[in-house]
Amino acid sequence: MKNRRSFIKKTGLFMGGLSVLPQYTFTSKFQKKKLGVCLVGLGNYSENLLAPALQLTQHCELKGVVTGSPNKIPVWQRKYGILDKNIYNYDNMDDIANNPDIDVIYIVLPTGLHSRYAIKAAETGKHVWCEKPMAKTVEECEAIIKACNKNKVKLSIGYRMQHEPNTQTLIKWSHTRPYGKIETVKAEIGFNIQNPGNTWRMDKELGGGLIYDVGVYSINGIRYTTGSEPISVTALHKNTRPEIFKEVEETTIFTLNFNDGLTASGKTTAAESVNILKADCENGWYQLQPFQSYTGVKGKTSDGQLLDTYIENQQAKQMDDDALSILQNKPMMVPGEEGLKDIAIVEAINESARLGSSVIL
Ligand code: NAD
Repeated sequence: MKNRRSFIKKTGLFMGGLSVLPQYTFTSKFQKKKLGVCLVGLGNYSENLLAPALQLTQHCELKGVVTGSPNKIPVWQRKYGILDKNIYNYDNMDDIANNPDIDVIYIVLPTGLHSRYAIKAAETGKHVWCEKPMAKTVEECEAIIKACNKNKVKLSIGYRMQHEPNTQTLIKWSHTRPYGKIETVKAEIGFNIQNPGNTWRMDKELGGGLIYDVGVYSINGIRYTTGSEPISVTALHKNTRPEIFKEVEETTIFTLNFNDGLTASGKTTAAESVNILKADCENGWYQLQPFQSYTGVKGKTSDGQLLDTYIENQQAKQMDDDALSILQNKPMMVPGEEGLKDIAIVEAINESARLGSSVIL
């Protein structure tokens, strides 16, 4: 295992210096094989999005799983040909350290469990991909980053939007500012959820609540659209159905203030379907609507440009981008610090809502 890991690391380092070579040269001559990915938690996102996407990826492939549900194992083995030796549970996942088939451990568990299992994953010496939101608290995010640094493994957060081409146009415009100074940004994401059910998403301890689940997309969207970090936040929670939303908030509304006078408004809600990211600038505007969706992210600008580049599969693009960063020993596109910054803002939002006043970041 050590040899294989050091091979990848050395290869990556070597390629880092030769990044001007076309990709096919790199792939055919230097890449030993696709990186083996092990999914931890076989719930909806793993089953219906990530595993199918891993059938489309060029630089990584599904090789293992960690599950606490033995009944899922035969189904996954039949579907994806996963070997017996690559199947783990939460108690024996430390043994992945000795499994040369697995290069990356991808944490796809309820948010409240991310830090515990991302740290376990880092300690196996394998690279770590962790779903958004990174964790429940800044402290947990820092612990994940620390464990990955200590074990010299790479860490990426599953913010797939940052790998999506229309979103990448907005990220580029945060630097180039083709419509002049950005004055205000709006990022709203919500669903009209009639029956949320009794799942971990309604459980505060496990990291439930809209602000964690999809609210982080509006925070992340504001941050990548402005290309800057807020200095203060004002927020409030609203709950029109306290009999359903007993532990977590139904709606959160917040304003982020930035150094240069720019303000951004954010909203996340389970009471209404909304999905827009808009920047109003000195000389025009642009928006994505929807800005957060598995397919069909698209937008337009005040002067009639369409932002409608199509990609087949966001998750495949995300995982291939991340696999290439590992293979070429390049910085991850969405490192742990990205997840941490959003969770710092989530904490400030909750604090502001609790105090009823603005909180300095
Ligand atoms: P899910 O409820 O469908 O699956 C969660 C899995 O965790 C299940 O297999 C469950 O058995 C397992 N689990 C282990 N211990 C558990 C416990 N104590 N309580 C509850 N479940 C436990 O959830 P999901 O929708 O697959 O979400 C998983 C993660 O993926 C979350 O972090 C979520 O935010 C993230 N996610 C990301 C995206 C995206 O677009 N990037 C989309 C959906 C979900």
